[in-house]
Amino acid sequence: MPFVAAKCTQCGGFLNVDSAQEAAVCQFCNTAFIIEQAINNYNTTININESGVTANTLIEYARVLINDGNFAKADEICDEALKRDPHDHRAHWLKLLAKLNLPNTHENTVGIAVKQRYRSDIANAADARSFVSSICHPHYNNAVQYAPESEKRNYIALFEILLRCVQAEKGELNKQNTVDECNQKIASLRDNINQANHYMLIHEYEKHKNNKVWLILGIMAIILAVAPVIGGVDTLVDGYMPSWLFVGAVLLAIYFIPALSKGSKKKKATALLNAQIEADRREIAALEEKIRRLKA
Ligand SMILES: [Zn+2]
Repeated sequence: MPFVAAKCTQCGGFLNVDSAQEAAVCQFCNTAFIIEQAINNYNTTININESGVTANTLIEYARVLINDGNFAKADEICDEALKRDPHDHRAHWLKLLAKLNLPNTHENTVGIAVKQRYRSDIANAADARSFVSSICHPHYNNAVQYAPESEKRNYIALFEILLRCVQAEKGELNKQNTVDECNQKIASLRDNINQANHYMLIHEYEKHKNNKVWLILGIMAIILAVAPVIGGVDTLVDGYMPSWLFVGAVLLAIYFIPALSKGSKKKKATALLNAQIEADRREIAALEEKIRRLKA
């Protein structure tokens, strides 16, 4: 929509009109007017570069532009007003509204503008008050400096609204950060649980694969190794059992007995892992509860 400056043919109020339309209603006096006439009316009465146009006229027009959300144009008009009077607090004030993209200073409007324009900056800002000061600089200070007491209060009120909105947004972002941290922690705990389960699965598989063979071999070895002790050294000497078999059996028994204790160590490790998994699950439940509370 090609918005252009116009002046109400009835009341002389400054307007920002859609030149594609034929007619509109004046926001000041509620009178219908022909757009083309209003534009001509503006062009014949206003030339912002003419020295005859007062700061008051420009300020009035800048207000209309701000109200319509035409911030860039409003900023330009304010600069023109400041050329005529550098101490005009209204021009500094309207430049501030233009800079912040604020069509008005209602708390809702300010909150939405802050969210849309400064979200990522607020996340990085250490302190809300100095952040608000930085986004208002230098127009806010100028406006307050040159304003009479009555206006100064309104200006300061906007600063406080901005501060509240930034603080609220900062609180939201902190909450979101905590939720993200909880989710990361939960993901890493789930990883741990998966790894522990995986380890136990492998252990279970190894046990089933090896155990029966080892058990039979081991028991045979022990019997063979113990046989000469029970049957007397004669068993060996008499040649009932060849000595190589005896030596082999002893070696196998030496290997088998620690393997048995290794199995019991693995059982202990499995019990520890199961306890750890239980602890991890409890921690996950606690973190999920924390996220629920933060989102509530
Ligand atoms: Zn009018």
